Amino acid sequence: MKKHNFFAGPSILPQFTIDETIKGIQNFAGTGLSILEISHRSKEFVAVVEEAQQLFRDLLKIPEGYSVLFLGGGASTQFLMIPFNFLGKKAAYLNTGAWANKAIKEAKLFGEVVEVASSKDTTYNYIPKGYEIPADADYFHITTNNTIYGTEIREDMDVNIPLIADMSSDIFSRPVDISKYDMIYGGAQKNLAPSGVTFVIIKNDILGKVDRPIPTMMNYQTHIDKDSMFNTPPVLPIFSALQTLKWLKAQGGLEAIEKINIEKADWLYDEIERNKMFKATVADKADRSLMNICFVMNDGFEEFEKEFLELATSKGMMGLKGHRSVGGFRASTYNALPKESVKALVEAMQEFEKNH
Ligand SMILES: *Cc1c(COP(=O)(O)O)cnc(C)c1O
Repeated sequence: MKKHNFFAGPSILPQFTIDETIKGIQNFAGTGLSILEISHRSKEFVAVVEEAQQLFRDLLKIPEGYSVLFLGGGASTQFLMIPFNFLGKKAAYLNTGAWANKAIKEAKLFGEVVEVASSKDTTYNYIPKGYEIPADADYFHITTNNTIYGTEIREDMDVNIPLIADMSSDIFSRPVDISKYDMIYGGAQKNLAPSGVTFVIIKNDILGKVDRPIPTMMNYQTHIDKDSMFNTPPVLPIFSALQTLKWLKAQGGLEAIEKINIEKADWLYDEIERNKMFKATVADKADRSLMNICFVMNDGFEEFEKEFLELATSKGMMGLKGHRSVGGFRASTYNALPKESVKALVEAMQEFEKNH
């Protein structure tokens, strides 16, 4: 049976990425060796890193003056590296969910943290608006896509201090005006690669502004100076990321991918609205994520949750169970998820409604 992969992360990758990764594991770049057993300093692998960086630059239209890094440690390590490198006295954070909270917790180890707004009171089912950002903060940190709750900030905001964004789960889902950000980072395992590599897009001139000594591995300058090769980078995940980037380019780039992402999300949200048995957890359409679509059983139908999950599973749909803090269902509709999978889910919802 055809499987439909709705997992939130690690999550679906293009078949092209998987096929090319298999080929690279068997015989990498004609070396007769596996990508698993070659030096990260071999010219063949250095070429992989350079091509991946160049595709980041081309696809996201990254302006001059930014570096693209591939690091280990996950987005969670960035939660501490950011304040380590940038928090002198005070930083501002927007609290839109569990990941934002974890970032805030780390920042508090380094200085004063101003939580400018929070949607915690309603399980983060909206994006706070109308808050003020302290002008004397060293940076403002946001999470553009809240993977667990299905909210997303899809506009690149104008702020008067350096803007840093966790884009773990929506990078490459739409064009981004990189010039509005001083740093963008994320774990690659949501929309780009298998787990193990963290991408960082960083403006070179925001570094060197704090006085504290920074351990070598925690210092962005180290990784910029050594072009992500200070120590052994996550070789295989970087290789896989390159394949996804090539695939993205072949799809027509981010404008084309965004169009498809909007079609897929609209299709599913429209069915959730239309179908009497379901309702979306995020009421404000402007705040709804294109990547993680969260919904629950509608009032009066709560008892059918398990039954619907069983029906979907029986039709090959995997990873639809919502995060334990939200309940219900979460359909992750990352770039690689084909329209047929959304169609299968919509049809299952319609069938379920007919039978009840
Ligand atoms: C998954 C996720 C993280 C955590 O990433 P790790 O690489 O596991 O540390 C952080 N932020 C967001 C928005 C995520 O979706």
